[in-house]
Amino acid sequence: MPKKTSKTKKSDLKPRPPVVVVLGHVDHGKTSLLDYIRKTNVAEKEAGAITQHIGAYQVEVEGKLITFIDTPGHEAFSAMRKRGGSIADIAILVVDAGEGVKPQTIEAIKCVHRAKIPVIIAINKIDLPKANPQQIKKELAKENLLVEDMGGEVVAVETSAKNGKGLKTLLEMILLIADMQELKASLKEAVSGEIIEAHLDPRRGPMATVLVKEGILRKGDVIVVGRSYGKIKEMEDFKARKINQALPSTPTLILGLKTVPSPGDILKKVESEEKAINLAQGFKKPSKLLKPKKQQFKKVLKLIIKADVKGTLEAVVETLKSIESKEVGLEIIEAEVGNINENNIKKALSARAIIIGFNINISPNLKDFAERQRVKMKTFDVIYELVETVRKELGKFLEPEKIKKTLGKVKILKVFKTTKNEQILGGKVILGKIEKGAKAEVKRKEKSIGQGKIARLQQKTREKKEVKVGQECGISFRGELETKIGDVLEVYREEEKKRIIE
Ligand code: GDP
Repeated sequence: MPKKTSKTKKSDLKPRPPVVVVLGHVDHGKTSLLDYIRKTNVAEKEAGAITQHIGAYQVEVEGKLITFIDTPGHEAFSAMRKRGGSIADIAILVVDAGEGVKPQTIEAIKCVHRAKIPVIIAINKIDLPKANPQQIKKELAKENLLVEDMGGEVVAVETSAKNGKGLKTLLEMILLIADMQELKASLKEAVSGEIIEAHLDPRRGPMATVLVKEGILRKGDVIVVGRSYGKIKEMEDFKARKINQALPSTPTLILGLKTVPSPGDILKKVESEEKAINLAQGFKKPSKLLKPKKQQFKKVLKLIIKADVKGTLEAVVETLKSIESKEVGLEIIEAEVGNINENNIKKALSARAIIIGFNINISPNLKDFAERQRVKMKTFDVIYELVETVRKELGKFLEPEKIKKTLGKVKILKVFKTTKNEQILGGKVILGKIEKGAKAEVKRKEKSIGQGKIARLQQKTREKKEVKVGQECGISFRGELETKIGDVLEVYREEEKKRIIE
């Protein structure tokens, strides 16, 4: 989070709560720690207050707020960072006191170093007999994380998410480090935020949890979020209470976006809906995708979309429209509310379309019918999965990327016979190995002069599948040119790599 921008007056800056992310190896106790902290620190004074999962929550410690990102794991964190976000101010690295540093611990350390944010180590499961905090500290030192009693500056706290030991200290340490960082944000600055989590609610439409970074986000604000935009219809805090505004570092659930944004997307307040439409990246482009001009795309994926209610249907359609690709188009030939029916399948069959359902069921009879007709049909209740599936289907239309994998080199020592289609050569493998059926690039004085194929290999009259470095062999070479003594065949295989639509 930016501490201040050049335009901001110093007097406009107000302290804001630190935003904390919890990272570490699987099963080391990230979720348990977050749950324990929430249970013991979130005041449940209001009768019937429901804490809902919106991807972040706040606790109050010594009269100060701390915001926890509640989607543990560095994958989510990395995904956010990839999109240019810098959501957290402090990272808690959870390490199991009995297990020690594991691959994901190391990845998390790299992640934190890249993000250049302070880290606090939670040496967790300290209640277990096999806990060995000294050992953990040594292992961390090997990864360039020197804790205080090893001569470094990194704070380490021994914790237990089982009995709560050390968690108060952990929270105090967070506040201490936050104080040193002097985290501030302007309340007058243009409103911005970052998406932590988003999903499609069957009844309420696209919902997103945003963490406000600058300014005050208010109900009724017109916002642009990545490729989406909208007017905030409703706002809720993490306890599902309706709110009208949110200050910096406050996690807030917002309703009113036209489509589901992605974690890490940046939110910005704009003056008008018109401006929002213009700004929403690529929001206008997809309409072109819907009506591909002839020959604009080589291939078009046709879809029939069915969803339970109008709101979700529109959101699914809009979200799909935002998938972009230069090479393949996406055409929604039908979008309807209701269950998938026989007519949909017939239409899909004649148009070669795929049927995508959201929040609906397919009867077994209809499933059989679709299978018999070989119509692809799939239903979802998670928008990400739906989008991923459509991306994969689009990806099938892309020509695979060819990757050249060099196997070895063979030097030509003799040319036994040359016919129109074939040369029988004698050679010595000088690098790696060569394989029957592999392709070869002919090099003369290190310059490529043409292509060919190793049709057969022989050693002492015996057919061979491969010949290794140092060995001599007979080669039947089929190529677009004749090779000479002294030429080198660089033998390779081409591997096809599936491409995906980003
Ligand atoms: P995550 O994958 O890092 O989120 O780990 P979890 O929070 O799911 O914890 C993995 C397992 O370790 C669960 O069975 C927890 O009950 C257990 N666990 C987590 N923290 C502690 C702890 O401090 N002490 C003990 N004894 N068990 C713990």
